[in-house]
Amino acid sequence: MNLINCKECGKVFASAGTKICPDCRRSEEEQFELVKEYLWDNPNSTVPAVSEATGVEEKMIIKFIKEDRLQSEGLDIDYTLKCKSCGKEIESGIYCENCRNKLVSDFNTKEEKKEKKKDKGKKSDKMFISDRFKRD
Ligand SMILES: [Zn+2]
Ligand SMILES: [Zn+2]
Repeated sequence: MNLINCKECGKVFASAGTKICPDCRRSEEEQFELVKEYLWDNPNSTVPAVSEATGVEEKMIIKFIKEDRLQSEGLDIDYTLKCKSCGKEIESGIYCENCRNKLVSDFNTKEEKKEKKKDKGKKSDKMFISDRFKRD
């Protein structure tokens, strides 16, 4: 068992592999029950509607969705993913295709610059080694 800080409340607790303390875990279960009960009566509700009716934070409801906990209970919720960058509706992931492509190309140009620096390092290493050979 490791002593770690709870990801939710920051309290130190003895973890058996979980990242949140038993107290927070319990309240998460309670919140899940609330959401579950609401969705049984009101299937296909939107996240903001569920949040308003149950008092459970939208963030938490989205977490339940992402963990497939609502789906595994056979509950439907009207939840559309939106691109984090431009707000367009998407089917999966965090960004829409356009924004993802843009991010990838930005990332690649950054990587290229890094690679060039690395090459320089290698070359000077080689020069150093051949210098040593000459001396030997
Ligand atoms: Zn906690
Ligand atoms: Zn986008």
